[in-house]
Amino acid sequence: MSRETLLKPRSSFVKVRCTQCSNEQIVFEKPASNVKCRVCGRILVKSTGGKGKFFAEILEVYS
Ligand SMILES: [Zn+2]
Repeated sequence: MSRETLLKPRSSFVKVRCTQCSNEQIVFEKPASNVKCRVCGRILVKSTGGKGKFFAEILEVYS
């Protein structure tokens, strides 16, 4: 019996599209620090300590 399977963190990833350059990237829903666009450097998700504040178009949520 494995206990680890019961302790899976309930976190998810979100696929977003930068509203400035249309780059798509997968980001953590609750980032520890601000997440920037890999292409243009625009902030996509702001860290809030909990669920991040999204400044990008959300395309898909993986849970
Ligand atoms: Zn961008």
